[in-house]
Amino acid sequence: MQSLSNRKKVLEQKPMSFWERIYLPAIAKGLSITIKHFFKKIPTVKYPEEIRPYSKNFRGQHSLKRDEQGRERCTACGLCALSCPAEAITMIAAERTKEELHLYREEKYAAVYEINMLRCIFCGLCEEACPKEAIYLDGKHVTADYLRKDFIYGKDKLVEPKFDITKLSQTTNN
Ligand code: SF4
Ligand code: SF4
Repeated sequence: MQSLSNRKKVLEQKPMSFWERIYLPAIAKGLSITIKHFFKKIPTVKYPEEIRPYSKNFRGQHSLKRDEQGRERCTACGLCALSCPAEAITMIAAERTKEELHLYREEKYAAVYEINMLRCIFCGLCEEACPKEAIYLDGKHVTADYLRKDFIYGKDKLVEPKFDITKLSQTTNN
């Protein structure tokens, strides 16, 4: 039958020559390729013992930032969630009370803030959309896990740890 692509090749079955029948040249050729690879630089990185330096543009795990007084910057405006092409971000907003002035910078804050790391494509659009400089993809990469539910990161994993304000003022004074 006529081939549609016209790329069909007719294979000729020539009788093998003497050298082809003894296989020795083919074995020597194969061995020479193997030996050549012994002296080549190995491109494999033995992770996790060996870690390649990260690129300056590396986007890792998100972190929700605090201001200079240690208060959460996020105001639960939802812009990051709206800009996310993977619909990986969800949140529930709450009103700040008088007693919570030291915890949250804005009148509204995210009582719940979750990112589904299995959906996230680390595009960085949430970081760009945030008007409060509250979210950055400046962490390391997301670690492997066994269950899908463990890839939904809440505030316990996302909010950056509290820092010592006295130390910060000392470093800025120096
Ligand atoms: S990095 Fe991109 S995909 Fe991931 S949460 Fe942000 S906007 Fe969504
Ligand atoms: S992280 Fe930024 S963009 Fe997202 S809800 Fe908080 S303040 Fe808004």
